[in-house]
Amino acid sequence: MKHRSGFVNILGNPNVGKSTLMNSLVGEKLSIITSKMQTTRHRIMGIVSGDDFQIVYSDTPGILNPKYLLQESMMKAVSGALSDADLVVYVTDVIESVNKNSDYLRKIIDAEAEKIIVINKIDLTSGEKLDKLYELWEGMVPGTQIVPISALNNFNVDNLLKLILSRLPEGPEYFPKDQLTDRHERFFITEIIREKILVHYQKEIPYSVEIEIESYKDEKSLTRIRAIIHVARESQKGIIIGHKGLMLKRVGSEARKDIEEFIGRKVFLELFVKVRKEWRDDTRSLKMFGY
Ligand code: GDP
Ligand code: MG
Repeated sequence: MKHRSGFVNILGNPNVGKSTLMNSLVGEKLSIITSKMQTTRHRIMGIVSGDDFQIVYSDTPGILNPKYLLQESMMKAVSGALSDADLVVYVTDVIESVNKNSDYLRKIIDAEAEKIIVINKIDLTSGEKLDKLYELWEGMVPGTQIVPISALNNFNVDNLLKLILSRLPEGPEYFPKDQLTDRHERFFITEIIREKILVHYQKEIPYSVEIEIESYKDEKSLTRIRAIIHVARESQKGIIIGHKGLMLKRVGSEARKDIEEFIGRKVFLELFVKVRKEWRDDTRSLKMFGY
């Protein structure tokens, strides 16, 4: 029996649905999803294995022009994912223009890896408009397969999967067959907390926050977790905590529920806010946070 395997890296502009697609392909919520730009900061692997195949997906931060060091590191994750791909799944949607970020698209088209273009969010458009968009993409990337889907509704994702499988080279298993991701449990816990912050706060706040697990103890009847919410400025601390601590309490209780579901145990979650001045431009802080 031939064994196929490969690195299938999901690239595209912010907010087109890359993380939604990866979760749908993997069948697990590995990447956090919100309507805000730059929700995904790291490259996150999602591994799907069968008897005769292994697909190693990578979800990546959206393509952007870096304004601070954190974003530079995010773009390194994007470039890395371009260079080690067997297959690039370039995601666009029915909203963004075909020409958005065309320089970067060119880079992807010229890369050595095989490519598939995915037009996502087709639930938001009509058949007629989709036909036109499809034609525009055909003109942009002649000879490249184009697959319309709705990642949110799982529409046509099964066909995309078949196509991905058929394009994979013969290869070994890169990870144990029961492994789901390259990230540890703690990473996902920090992401759950960050997701609540992305959802509940406005403007710069979500982009100024990084989460650190200070301690994690499995006790008899529950898991006790202390997490620090790092902010970039003093003024952001009060905003995070909110009037009488209500905002932080809400974040804590929503995050706790999701973490309980994720690890399958009762959780006692304590959140603290600390100021780490301009950490997004501070090499040492970025290193500490894993960028
Ligand atoms: P990313 O930045 O490319 O990773 O995009 P996300 O996966 O975080 O999704 C961005 C937003 O688009 C979220 O609000 C998603 O719910 C939404 N979204 C993703 N896929 C679809 C889809 O197929 N249809 C619709 N209507 N919305 C979608
Ligand atoms: Mg994302």
